[in-house]
Amino acid sequence: MSSDKKLTPISDLGEFGLIDRMTKGIKLKNKSSVKGVGDDAAVVNHNGYQTVITTDMLTEGIHFDLSYSPLKHLGYKAVVVNLSDILAMNAKPTQIVVSIAVSARTSVESLDELYAGIYEACNFYKVDLVGGDTTSSRSGLVISITAIGKAKPEDLIYRSGAKENDLICVTGDLGAAYMGLQLLIREKEVYKVNPNSQPDLSGFEHILERQLKPECPISIIDKLEKMNVRPTAMIDISDGLSSEVLHICQASEVGCVVHEDKLPIDESTIKFGNQIGVHSSIAALNGGEDYELLFTVPLSDFDTIKRYPEIKVIGHITKEDKGCSLVTGDGTYLPLDAQGFDHGANE
Ligand SMILES: [Mg+2]
Repeated sequence: MSSDKKLTPISDLGEFGLIDRMTKGIKLKNKSSVKGVGDDAAVVNHNGYQTVITTDMLTEGIHFDLSYSPLKHLGYKAVVVNLSDILAMNAKPTQIVVSIAVSARTSVESLDELYAGIYEACNFYKVDLVGGDTTSSRSGLVISITAIGKAKPEDLIYRSGAKENDLICVTGDLGAAYMGLQLLIREKEVYKVNPNSQPDLSGFEHILERQLKPECPISIIDKLEKMNVRPTAMIDISDGLSSEVLHICQASEVGCVVHEDKLPIDESTIKFGNQIGVHSSIAALNGGEDYELLFTVPLSDFDTIKRYPEIKVIGHITKEDKGCSLVTGDGTYLPLDAQGFDHGANE
């Protein structure tokens, strides 16, 4: 948004005017969306399917920094982080409800940008925006999204089903979003010192995109079904791989072995990590915000899984009394913990 345009204060529209403006173009895409925006509540009919519900709130200054997060990307990301949790249940996302709290310095035009991103994600992932709320905030922008999804009762996958000898699989690549954030923070510091400096972001488009406009692997849900592979446990990777593997192990009462050299890490993640002195494995294990899926499958599915390059096998499930271990590149076993491991100390 160019700064020479006059911006409209939200008070010019009022709450109902604002809601009209933000929701006027909605065309419902899903049969299950019986009633969308415009009444006291939305109506969703999942006809024999079970309904999956999740919510996530993003707060300015805690989860995002508007000095480097474009509002359109932020809107997109706020939807994706919720859909990722629906996928993690092996369910299909169908609707979202969007609530925002805005401060007096938020303009109508900036909300247009935010909603443009929200609608872009709704179109890409084929979900309907069916309701929400707007209110004021004294501290900054808050975006709270609730996502609704559906699944046949027998298709739902919980964290608790992993069994000894199952393979641990992940989609996509890990650690890039963390490195993207470090790059944005670095460039913000450079800009503070010299506002005329041009940010040096070339070669790092991947890590920036993974931080600012992440995607969640929605096609994997259909692919697993087509492959006839039913994961025994599943979770999305929002807080770093270690923490998510531990959640599965705890819920399933099992142990695990994860191999550091099998972690899928993009070259640009490694390259930027080298620049700032952070090992890319640490970013993958403890960075977070990857929004990929982590799941376990029976060993008998290995021949099927290996034909899909977007799915990587990174380890296996053991008996609970073996604990949870990470095997480093040189074959050292370290305890896997959510706080992270000190890579340098073991080299
Ligand atoms: Mg989750």
